[in-house]
Amino acid sequence: MAQKKVGLECSKCGARNYTVTVNAARAERLELKKFCKHCGEYTIHRETR
Ligand SMILES: [Zn+2]
Repeated sequence: MAQKKVGLECSKCGARNYTVTVNAARAERLELKKFCKHCGEYTIHRETR
């Protein structure tokens, strides 16, 4: 299985807070609700490269 490392970027302030390993063959773009230390709250984090 091909795995890919991607960053997760806060959709509010744009900070890159997390790095996750995902399946490279998956269809959808990753969106997770995670804690952003810059915003001080839980925000949507989107996949970056
Ligand atoms: Zn943020």
